[in-house]
Amino acid sequence: MKKHIAIVGFGLTGRLAALGLADEFTLSIFEASDIQAASSAGAVAAAMLAPQAESVLCEPDLAELGLRAIARWPEIIGHLNGDVFFQQQGALIVAHPQDFADLQLFANRLKPLEQQQAQWLNREQINQLEPALGTRFQKGIFLPCEGQLDNAAFYQASCETLLQKDITWHFGSKVSINGNEVAGQAFDLVIDCRGLGAKPDLTKLRGVRGEVARVYAPEVALSRPVRLMHPRYPIYIVPKPNHEFVIGATEIESQDEGAVTVRSTLELLSAAYTIDSGFAEAKIISLKSGLRPSFVDNRPQITLNKQLISINGLYRHGYLLAPVLVDEVVRQAQHLLLEFDFMPASAHLAGLVQRVD
Ligand SMILES: Cc1cc2nc3c(=O)[nH]c(=O)nc-3n(C[C@H](O)[C@H](O)[C@H](O)COP(=O)(O)OP(=O)(O)OC[C@H]3O[C@@H](n4cnc5c(N)ncnc54)[C@H](O)[C@@H]3O)c2cc1C
Repeated sequence: MKKHIAIVGFGLTGRLAALGLADEFTLSIFEASDIQAASSAGAVAAAMLAPQAESVLCEPDLAELGLRAIARWPEIIGHLNGDVFFQQQGALIVAHPQDFADLQLFANRLKPLEQQQAQWLNREQINQLEPALGTRFQKGIFLPCEGQLDNAAFYQASCETLLQKDITWHFGSKVSINGNEVAGQAFDLVIDCRGLGAKPDLTKLRGVRGEVARVYAPEVALSRPVRLMHPRYPIYIVPKPNHEFVIGATEIESQDEGAVTVRSTLELLSAAYTIDSGFAEAKIISLKSGLRPSFVDNRPQITLNKQLISINGLYRHGYLLAPVLVDEVVRQAQHLLLEFDFMPASAHLAGLVQRVD
């Protein structure tokens, strides 16, 4: 008989874990909201895959891991029922003249990634790369390894794929976890993918608020993500299929789960307008806010504790890092259930996996 795993949380990591385990094990999935999990951080995210730009903020090991993880996305998407837009054609970083000093600082802080060279571009080169920007920007930086995907399509396609599998679903089930028990039922293994919902058990977890706008802008012809240097937080304009663009995200040290503020809306939409005036006639599809589940050091963590595996703290790097982190969760689950012990963490994840039993 197949071993029975409970996955708690059907956001980004829960979906990836279910995709990795559904063929080999019997799964029960518990999700506090419904199948869309529309308020999960993974549903709100801009879904940029930006290891080099993020290297300015994070340690080199996470940036290297992110670069490795991008390569996993086409494989994951290839197994889904339904199309998911994925792109890895680099990203452009630009600044208005008053923010040139910040652009230089950003360039100085970029950490070298294996075989990835950031390139300074002048006005003509920017125009060549993204004709929609014209000659508006004097200076920019091209980061060739950056990518992005359409998370709305990933959420949809992962649902469609997993609904075909033999899974017991529990939606509207905000449950607590007690060792290998979920809602009073015992499992061979529990995988905790609750994101910020795990806060009652993880006191060091906090939410970092982010807000994003999604617009329909048929007059804008950007072909790759453009990041605008901004005094408060990096703002990306991320082209998605069908003339849609995600603009975001703010980053605010706050646990406020409330709706997007007027201030953030003005900042995001004006930033987009200064990149391309075609955004003036764009239609706003949605304005969303979410909380990024984050530990104090902003590093993710996998914890192995007898029949419970937890993955959390993916902060602003969920889409960037989850493929390799969840691969490790799947590997550990397989080993525990088939070989009856946890195995040592993969070398490239040193420090991110801890065993507490
Ligand atoms: C505005 C914003 C922009 C972002 N942009 C990017 C980006 O560009 N690139 C990037 O790599 N990352 C980005 N992220 C980060 C990324 O979205 C998160 O790191 C990632 O979604 C975390 O995944 P998770 O599965 O841990 O949590 P979530 O995706 O939040 O999923 C957790 C799920 O668990 C469910 N749950 C919670 N408690 C319970 C319970 N007790 N019982 C049952 N179910 C429960 C929740 O309902 C939810 O569906 C962004 C996040 C935000 C908010």
